[in-house]
Formats: sequence, structure tokens, C-alpha cells
Amino acid sequence: MIESEDKTLFAKLKIYTLLDLALIIPNSYDDTTLSKQVEIGKIITAEAVVLEHKNINGKLQIIFNLVNFKTNISATFFKVMPYHYATFTINSKHYIQGKISQYNGFLQLSQPKKITIPNQIVPKYKTILKSSELRDLIKKYITINNLIASGLDEKISKTIYALHFPNTLSDIFEDKSYKSDIIYALKYSEAFNHLKKLQGKRIDYPPKVELNGRIDKFLAHLPFKLTDEQLKCIDDIREDFKSSIKATKRMIVGDVGSGKTMVILACAMMALPNRSVLMAPTSLLALQLYEEACKYLSSFMKIALVTQKTNHGDYTEANLIIGTHALLYKEDLGEIELVMIDEQHRFGTRQRQRLESSFIDGKKKPHMLQFSATPIPRTQAMMDSALIDVSLITTTPFTKDITTKVISKSNFPDLLSKIRDEIRENHQVLIVYPLVEQSEQIPYQSLEEARGFWEKNFDNLFVTHGRDKDKEAVLLEFREKGDILLATTVVEVGISLPRLTMVVVVGAERLGLATLHQLRGRVGRNGLKSYCYLYTNSSEPNRRLDIFTKTTSGFDVAKLDLQFRNSGDILDGTIQSGIKFRWLDMGSDEEIISKAKECL
Ligand code: ADP
Ligand code: MG
Repeated sequence: MIESEDKTLFAKLKIYTLLDLALIIPNSYDDTTLSKQVEIGKIITAEAVVLEHKNINGKLQIIFNLVNFKTNISATFFKVMPYHYATFTINSKHYIQGKISQYNGFLQLSQPKKITIPNQIVPKYKTILKSSELRDLIKKYITINNLIASGLDEKISKTIYALHFPNTLSDIFEDKSYKSDIIYALKYSEAFNHLKKLQGKRIDYPPKVELNGRIDKFLAHLPFKLTDEQLKCIDDIREDFKSSIKATKRMIVGDVGSGKTMVILACAMMALPNRSVLMAPTSLLALQLYEEACKYLSSFMKIALVTQKTNHGDYTEANLIIGTHALLYKEDLGEIELVMIDEQHRFGTRQRQRLESSFIDGKKKPHMLQFSATPIPRTQAMMDSALIDVSLITTTPFTKDITTKVISKSNFPDLLSKIRDEIRENHQVLIVYPLVEQSEQIPYQSLEEARGFWEKNFDNLFVTHGRDKDKEAVLLEFREKGDILLATTVVEVGISLPRLTMVVVVGAERLGLATLHQLRGRVGRNGLKSYCYLYTNSSEPNRRLDIFTKTTSGFDVAKLDLQFRNSGDILDGTIQSGIKFRWLDMGSDEEIISKAKECL
């Protein structure tokens, strides 16, 4: 739709689509519509005849007659130039514009402007281009027909068009703010434009094979029933697998403990008699998945484990190969029709693609499933799904019983006795420090500073952090023998610690809710009553932390995080910066996004 001669202008504006252009809206308007009445305190635009000049203390005062209103008005010009005398000669007629006031019963204008063309509304744009240059571009491209051709409906198209070519400003503004239908149209267009761009980026390939293995025997052998959401997710995937046109490309998003592994295992079943591969970010996690797969699948298929250090089973003939990134370096994995990636956010895009690409056959691709434990708001999922299909698992098989509390220094003695209680019960405690070493920027003890205290007062203490090379070994040993684990936020505890019932986060107010949620997700994984203490030494009440204590759903937390983010609350570095919308609010505009998706 965009002509090649205009491509450079579009590039200068860093925009690509007609809707991008339509969404560059005027910053202000020059309105020269002639006024219908004279109102004190308002701007008037009127035809005026010069009656008289007066020079008062270097200021020029002109008495005009407002022809249509049959009244005189006195206008004062403070910066007088020869231009004024040359223009406003006695008896000459002009269109003038200025704000009306009243003094001693006389109408007054201060420094009015002379208008060249009356009865027009000229939008003013603030961009890298000159306002007139941009306006030419807008005139050329922004027509109601073009907006409709871009996919907007007629009503929205007309509303957006009116922003650029208004008949009267009262169609746009109410008390100087945009009217609600204008805001709606802007939000909608922004959502629609974004979705359309994402959709344009999505490229689908045919699958190598369709998959339709049965899972009834597998389900019947499980010691529990899958949750409705687990089943719904499996159904989504089953539909994907049946397609002969598009290889599956789906992301399964579910909180820690929502039971994604069962979905993974069910998919390996559906893939039979074809072969699947599952990549996990750490060897511990891979081992855990392998153990679980053996437990539930070994009567149906052969399973192998591939990590840097150990292998189990013959991966060249296994139906399901589970492994770490070590998989990327094996060249004899054979034909694979289903690629699955667990905890996908802990891999780079290149690693994920590399695994997939080893199994591409000409233009045909293996089915690809990615699993993520970072809950995203439903709105984000709707947006993302233009690019990749998304299934959400928002519930957990059993409700975790976690009490979350904000605590500070005065609660420390109580905290210590709580910790002792838990240890006495053979439970474990995780204490998270902001940093390994001391730092002047952070008003909390570091891991190294605090370590002495804990070592003096408790036995079976383990310490690790993100840069610790031995962290996997430390975690494994802690899982068996430890009482207390000191760590930093960067430590990604990939394994489940079933006895962990308490997490204490030092300096919690410094962290994003998503991070706090990840940390809290470490406890109570086996249904044991658990505690999450958010330690802060700030005496101010913290609404964000308070709200966090009231929900345990990762999807709620993701939504809250977004709302606080929009309101400019503090952030930590762990939050990935999403796309910024000018009008659309990802926290509250779910309905608009869903409408835009329907109309794609
Ligand atoms: P995640 O989504 O974090 O990968 P897991 O798959 O590890 O979660 O599941 C957490 C725990 O819940 C595991 O011990 C698993 O066996 C158990 N589980 C999974 N699905 C169900 C279910 N439907 N009913 C009961 N327990 C389940
Ligand atoms: Mg998992």
C-alpha cells in the first residue's frame, strides 16, 4: 500500500504500515472556525474591521469592530512592529483570533493573531518530519477507504480519520481530553496493528508427519486424574498434531507446579510410533524428567537420557530422548518428529532453533512445543498467539498452602523461632540475599556478610549463588541433608525441593513481583503448609508487596506486575521490557485485544 517513493519518509519515522502512520496523531490543532458567539474567557475567531489606533506607553491598542457581533473590542499588542501598522490600517478588514477578557465593561483581546484562512482546522504534528511534510503524507494515505482496507471496521476508521481531518474539534475533545470513542479507536487500532504485524512475521511449515498416538492407556495408569486445564492443553496439542499443513508451534505456559510434565509425557505418547526429544536447561532437571518419564511411560516406550556426564539407555533407538544442551552436539539422534523444550526461557533463541533445525527435512519441520513457567498476563498471551499458539495452565493440581507476609527488623526474633520450628519438623528453609558481596548501593547485608551469623546459629547450612560453579552439587546435597540454604535471587533452583517450606526474601521491595513469585514457587510443592517472608527495612507501607501477599496465582501476579509497571512502580532488572503502547493498557484492555484478535 505504501509507495516506494515514500519508503524513506516512513523509514525516517521508523514506521512500516499505514496504521503506524494513522497512529501518529496531531499534537494540537489550529482551529480557525469562525465563532458563533462572544464568550468571556474563551478564544474568539471573528471578522474584524479596524476603527482606531492608540499608542499607550509603547503598546499599540487597536479598536476593532466585530462585524458579525455588532460590537467593538479593544486589542492590545505588546510587541509592536512596523508590520502591525502596515497591516492593520484604518478600515481594513481581517480575521483575528484571541482570548476575550473584560475590563471596565469593555471587551478586550490581548495580542490577537491575524488569521489568513478562516473556517479550517489544521492539525499540527510533532515528528522528525516537518508538520507540513507529515501532513502531506497523511493526506495521501489516510483515507477512510485505506483504513478499512487495513482491516479496521468502518466506525473505527471514521473515528481515526476524524483525528486527522476533523470537522469540528468538539467531535474529538470533551473538556480538553479525547472523547471515549476516540480513545477506544486508538487502543483498538494499536492492538490490531500490533497483532497484524506479528501475524505477518509468522511463517508456518508443513510437518514431517501427522501425529495421532493414543493416550488412554497412559491416562488410565496415572495415580491421579489430570486437571481440566492439563486435558484442555493436551487437546489443543492433539489438534495441532493432526494438521498436515502446519507443523505445531505452541507455547505452554503454566505456573511452577501446574503439572506441565504430564503434558510433556502425554505428547510423547501422542507422537508414538514416532520419536520425540525433550531438552531441559540443567542436568538435574533432565534427570528429574527422565525419572518421571520412566515411572509413567516405560511400559509404552523406550526412554533415554543424554547429559554431558551421563547417558542412560540407547538414545539412537529410544522413542523419547531427554537431555540437556548436550543434545545439540549429538549428531546421531536419528529421525525426530516432535521437539519439546522445557523451561524454554532458560535457553537462547539460537539454542532452541538449533535443536529444531537438526530435524528439518527439506521444507518440512518437526512439531515444536515449548514449555514456560513464567506466567504471562492473558492479554500478553493473546498478543503472542499471533506469532505462536499459546496454551495457558492457570491452575495447579493441588492448591498450595502458602502464607505470605511482609516482615521487618522487629519481626526477626519471631522469624528465627519460626525457622527453628520448621527445621524441627524436618523441613527446609531458603534465605535469599540481594547480592553475594557487600555493596554500598544496597541497604541490606550481602550473602557473605550474613553467612557468619547463620553458621554460628544453625547446623546443616548450605550456600550457593548464581556464579557458583558447584551450585548443582550444592543443591543436590542440600536436598538430602540440608536445613538452611543461603542463596541469591540469580540462583535458579531448577530441581524441586519437596521439604522446602519456607523462603525468606531479603530486600523484597527491590524485586519485581514476577521474581518474588518465582521464589515463592519454590516452597510448598508437595502440599506442605509453607511460608514466604518478604523482609524489608523500609518503614513505608508497600502496596505492591501487600497485594502480592494476597494471591498465589502466577497469572494474577503477572497481571498485577503489569499494572504496577504501567503506573511506574519500581522495577528490577529481571522484568523483560515489553513493547510499549501509547494507548493500549495491557493490564486492563483485555476485551479490546480480544476483539482485535477476532477481527484479524
Ligand atoms: P511444572 O508445571 O512446574 O513442571 P510438574 O509437572 O513438575 O509441574 O508437577 C508438579 C507436581 O504435581 C508433580 O509432583 C506431579 O507429579 C504432580 N501432578 C501433576 N499433575 C497432577 C494432577 N493432575 N494431580 C495431582 N498431581 C499432579
Ligand atoms: Mg517443569
